Amino acid sequence: MSGIYIHIPFCKQACHYCDFHFSTSTKKKSQLVEMLCEELELRKDEIGRNIQTIYFGGGTPSLLNSEELDLIFKTIFEYFKVSETAEITLEANPDDLTEEVIKMLNASPINRLSIGVQSFFEKDLKLMNRAHNSEEALRSLQLAKHYFDNISIDLIYGIPGQSNEQWKQNLQQALELDIPHISSYALTVEPKTALEKFIEKGKVKPVEDEQYREQFDILIETLTSKGFEHYEFSNYGKPGYHSQNNIAYWLGKPYLGIGPSAHSFDGRSRKWHISNNSLYINSIEAGKLPQQTEELSTTDSYNEYVMTRLRTKYGVNLEDIQEKFGEKYKLHFLKEADRFLQDGLMENSDETFHITPNGKFLSDGIAADLFYIDK
Ligand code: SF4
Repeated sequence: MSGIYIHIPFCKQACHYCDFHFSTSTKKKSQLVEMLCEELELRKDEIGRNIQTIYFGGGTPSLLNSEELDLIFKTIFEYFKVSETAEITLEANPDDLTEEVIKMLNASPINRLSIGVQSFFEKDLKLMNRAHNSEEALRSLQLAKHYFDNISIDLIYGIPGQSNEQWKQNLQQALELDIPHISSYALTVEPKTALEKFIEKGKVKPVEDEQYREQFDILIETLTSKGFEHYEFSNYGKPGYHSQNNIAYWLGKPYLGIGPSAHSFDGRSRKWHISNNSLYINSIEAGKLPQQTEELSTTDSYNEYVMTRLRTKYGVNLEDIQEKFGEKYKLHFLKEADRFLQDGLMENSDETFHITPNGKFLSDGIAADLFYIDK
């Protein structure tokens, strides 16, 4: 079983912290949608035709109109066999989710919404230059809940000027709305973003590491005490609401990434498309995929395995390492993991290694220390 990821590279405005690929001009939207469909046809045999998850990411997929969505689904159903139990997610921004749009999405094959709320506080939304306001954040969720059961929201912590108390109130608001899945990310300052410039010029005060850590701890404590499972570093779900799309990705299942800047994985190699809408359109029109490919070495695959598994509840399994990568990698892992076991940052149960609650905030750094470096 495989997945399809479709990148919709348009946004109403640029959020100050964002370094994803998107354009704020939607002039080429319908042309690009046609090319997405062309690409689906071109690549129909690449990863097998049985599809278990479809994910519309971006950019802002909720900018698609019903004709554009219909065309994409018609193409997918023509060339792929989509499981009846497939999870079909669309990322949406609160300002797009009028009742009319939600009804349209509900009438389509989409069965899960991932809504980019980020914060319920007006001052946070302004600072991040989000297109929605706090009232729209609330109203979109109340409306969405009438039509969709499977809803996820994104919430950002570590926003400059956001106190721990306000962060708790954001989480409390999500709990009151009974949202069954929350993805929560620290606001990172990416190179060449407006946020980076504001910080350089002293207009925005950077957030101290300690505050990230405190808000991360508040997040885990608040959600796990209310029945959410912390099943991946940034993801929390009630039973039955864990993201199938993300789980497939972490477990290394193949997926086809369609659209500009989209990444694909076929089990052995990674491919990624050019991050430019016009060049993407021209290339697909000419019947050529605008992509680069990287064949993964055994060491690359081992390092990716360790990184993704330590971020999840699945952990690193020794038998898995032996089978997939061989004895050399298993011995390396055991040797390097020992100090983290001694320090109480990792634990071993039945030959499966997990990060302990004390080590969770450090999991990416711990994983990097367990990487194998080819000599
Ligand atoms: S809506 Fe999402 S993709 Fe678009 S600019 Fe904002 S964060 Fe980036």
